[in-house]
Amino acid sequence: MRQKIVAGNWKMNLDLVEGEELLTNILDQERGKDVVTIVAPPYIHLSSAKRMLSHTNIGLAAQNCHNQTSGAYTGEVSVKMLKSVGVEYVILGHSERREYFKEDSLAISFKVNHVIENGLRPIYCCGETLTERKDGQHFEIIEKQLTEGLFQLNEIELLNCIIAYEPVWAIGTGETASPEQAQEVHAFIRKTIASQYNAITANSVSILYGGSVKPSNAVELFNCPDIDGGLIGGAALQAESFATLTKSF
Ligand code: PEP
Repeated sequence: MRQKIVAGNWKMNLDLVEGEELLTNILDQERGKDVVTIVAPPYIHLSSAKRMLSHTNIGLAAQNCHNQTSGAYTGEVSVKMLKSVGVEYVILGHSERREYFKEDSLAISFKVNHVIENGLRPIYCCGETLTERKDGQHFEIIEKQLTEGLFQLNEIELLNCIIAYEPVWAIGTGETASPEQAQEVHAFIRKTIASQYNAITANSVSILYGGSVKPSNAVELFNCPDIDGGLIGGAALQAESFATLTKSF
């Protein structure tokens, strides 16, 4: 079922006390109704965040996971562990993971499968670099990322995924895709899903835009017909901005 969603990716920011303070401030703010609000703090925050969120309607996401249940994978965290502390969503394929940790769509597809098997929901990120956009390759790149990372799923499984289109050139740069550019790619993603699955499935998946979304540009972006909300980095670290984004539909 297509939902309006605002998800905040805290990345590697805030210690535990600062994170609790941010959550307290978010909970104090008025948030949009009928909008699924999600926070994705670093692993170390997840248990305490879950306690703080347990009687609220804010969902909890992890920023990554491993593709195995347990074993000799020093430094890694499994989906089973995430589930045990109440995590409901996992961000996968973020461009920072693709670039700095050399994760490609095939490697990410194993994580996607594992998250789905465990009953959690992947937030699958895709998007082109600046060079790819300048070369006019963005549709091809996005189609490849979807095909290799997500299209191994059956229809029901795909409906449990959230897709985030995040042009790499717009992440953390202050440069946002125009509503027209974002809408064009979102419509393309739906068309690609429709040709692989069917139109109903394509129209039922929530597709978020990410890349320097802030209160001043969110309304224009979130009101495009194929944009169902945002995956937010910088603006998710300020309670008031984040809450404002949940009211920008
Ligand atoms: C992100 O990290 O997914 C993101 C979109 O960051 P920012 O909003 O800071 O560009």
